[in-house]
Formats: sequence, structure tokens, C-alpha cells
Amino acid sequence: MDIATYLKEHNIKPSYSRIRILDYMMTHKNHPTVDMIYGNLVKEMPTLSKTTVYNTMELFLNSGVVKLISIDEKEKRYDADISTHGHFRCDNCGRIVDLYFDGPLPMPKAHEDLEIREIQYYAKGLCKHCK
Ligand SMILES: [Zn+2]
Ligand SMILES: [Zn+2]
Repeated sequence: MDIATYLKEHNIKPSYSRIRILDYMMTHKNHPTVDMIYGNLVKEMPTLSKTTVYNTMELFLNSGVVKLISIDEKEKRYDADISTHGHFRCDNCGRIVDLYFDGPLPMPKAHEDLEIREIQYYAKGLCKHCK
């Protein structure tokens, strides 16, 4: 499916900048920050502003097009892969690598009856480049 159709399915008007931003995220799979997206796209889109990127990420987030990853306590990072998966963050270079599970994520036991809507799985250590 093309990105414009995907955005329309989420009730988002597929403007040029929105398409480019989501295309960047889906192609790079690098869980970028607003700064990373802006820094890469502004070279080819000189009229792009950081505010546009920021507002687009808020819109994507509220529409379920991206997920927020809070593994990095200093900056917000976003993921266009909204399937259930975990993340590994390299302590040295900050790279975030996807972790996939063979089956559903194990459900934790709780002392009371909870409706769990989301589980975030994080691991930290050194990536293959930094080991
Ligand atoms: Zn690393
Ligand atoms: Zn991910």
C-alpha cells in the first residue's frame, strides 16, 4: 500500500511533508527523534520547519500511525512500526534496534484485575558496532 493511502486510512490528509516524513521513517527504521527527521529531510525540502515535523509527529501519534518509544529518557523517539515488538538501546551510540518475539509477549501477573492495553519491552546494552 502506498503511504498516501495509508495516511488516508488513518483519517490524515496526505500532504507532501507528511508523506515524506512517514516515508523516511518506514525506510530508515531508525526510531528517529524530531531533530533526526528534520535534519535529514531539510536537505531536500528547504521549506520544511522543525515545527512542521513536531506537529506531524503529534498528529501521527494521536492517529496511531506511529508509537512513542520512551526508552531514551532525554529525547522522544518515534516508531512507524506499530506491530508488537520490543526495543534494545545501545548505551554507547544510542542506536535503537527492534526486538521481535516468537509468540505473544508474556503477560505479567498483577495483584488486581487490570486491563493492560500496552506493554513496552526494553533492553539495554552494547550493539554489534560498540561491543
Ligand atoms: Zn552502539
Ligand atoms: Zn521498533
